[in-house]
Amino acid sequence: MARKKIIAGNWKMNGSLESNEALLEGIFAKIESNNSLVIVSSPFPYLGQVSELIKKSPISLAAQNVSQYVSGAYTGEVSLEMLKNFSVEYVLIGHSERRTYYNETDSVIAEKTKAVLESGLRPILCIGETLEERQSEQTLDVCAKQIDAVLNAVDVSSFENIVVAYEPVWAIGTGLSATAQQAQDVHEFIRKHVATHNASVAEKVQILYGGSVKADNSKELFSMPDIDGALVGGASLIVDEFVGIIKAAG
Ligand code: PEP
Repeated sequence: MARKKIIAGNWKMNGSLESNEALLEGIFAKIESNNSLVIVSSPFPYLGQVSELIKKSPISLAAQNVSQYVSGAYTGEVSLEMLKNFSVEYVLIGHSERRTYYNETDSVIAEKTKAVLESGLRPILCIGETLEERQSEQTLDVCAKQIDAVLNAVDVSSFENIVVAYEPVWAIGTGLSATAQQAQDVHEFIRKHVATHNASVAEKVQILYGGSVKADNSKELFSMPDIDGALVGGASLIVDEFVGIIKAAG
């Protein structure tokens, strides 16, 4: 069975009430009927606004992070129940910027992934190697370790609800995308790695590529058998780029 493609925009720490509305109106005006799932991931303060704006559209809403805890004395944190108040369906977990700047470890990321699944939302689990790790041929080991941390915390069947985003750190925000073949090789490895635990789950798990995806490199990426869509940063803030990527996914 063909896996549905997903195009997820990660707005990161960008936007304003005005620019969010203009961006979404621009996307609505240009998006035609398409077969992929489109997601936008806004900063926390705008989830309410974006949730209202996309209500009558086929676009789904993601948050960029969440606490692994239910509630209580965690100043500055946001809970899963709070996200649910704003019709959030997906949560980015373990983005490399969270791993690097906020010291999120594999074990914290596994806890968050578990909490998201238990709440009924779907995690978009980001993994990927640094340039140094790629150059020292550790790419596959790093990805396996990041996946294994989650497999130690949840049953492999949960991977039917986890969206994996393979994002080589050296390709994020640099304009230097992995080639379609480089990405395919890692996606195939990730699927085979999940298959060592459960082959039928591995066939279903949706694996997105992220790292300088643009309208003009997306078609080739999406033609690869194990690439099920994209997690898009910078280009998701530009109407024509984001719509171009959505169209390339078919
Ligand atoms: C991202 O933020 O996940 C990302 C892939 O960014 P960019 O598309 O800008 O490289």
